[in-house]
Amino acid sequence: MNGLIFNLHNHTPFSDGAYSIDELCDLHLSRKDIKVDGIGISDHLFRTPTSRVPADDREFERIFAPETARYLAEVRAARERWAGKLQVFCGAEIHWPMNKGHLNIIRNLLSGLDYVLVETIDWAGLTMLANQARRWPCHVGLAHADVGERFPNTSQDQVVRTMANARIFYELNAVMMPLRESDPWLNLLPKHRVFVTLGTDTHDDLTCLRAIKPMYDLLVKTGLDQRMLRFAPASAPPQPQAATA
Ligand SMILES: [Zn+2]
Repeated sequence: MNGLIFNLHNHTPFSDGAYSIDELCDLHLSRKDIKVDGIGISDHLFRTPTSRVPADDREFERIFAPETARYLAEVRAARERWAGKLQVFCGAEIHWPMNKGHLNIIRNLLSGLDYVLVETIDWAGLTMLANQARRWPCHVGLAHADVGERFPNTSQDQVVRTMANARIFYELNAVMMPLRESDPWLNLLPKHRVFVTLGTDTHDDLTCLRAIKPMYDLLVKTGLDQRMLRFAPASAPPQPQAATA
């Protein structure tokens, strides 16, 4: 283990966050309680401002491809500005019910990102995602999922096996704190090959950043720090993917 600590769940004004990437970098670098080595920007992508549902994949791509390219360029520029001081990763958060009908096109649009967090997914969705997550061009994880509540009719054992097989990572999020060491899910996770990330879901309230240290301490106590997803930022320019249809 290399001990690097990343907070991979932060929003900026690109979606509904209050702080710019530079401000978030400053805020993380100036923390006295813990040394943060990198942050991930995980703005909401693929949501129309009017919540109007795109009619088909073609319209979806027309609306969201330019936006995604602009987002990626913005985060990459910040990555360069902060090089040597703080690592900056480019992630995204996507809303499963709103986006599940356009996965083929989304998969292509995510090319060049480091990871994606999927929120509001149910068990049917997780099994659908699990069937294809390994073919996605970036790491795929569950955003702030309370497993017991999110998948009430499925055993945690089945959830963890599904995630391990599909290489879907699990995000420990500040909204779930305080979590106890004795939590059954936290005890189950280290027994399976599921990677974990830390995230604060930063929007406008910076008190969430205080949770980074207790979350990391909890991962160390449960042995999950050994399973933290630690990756180098995707550096290659987005490659056109095969068939989008
Ligand atoms: Zn979020």
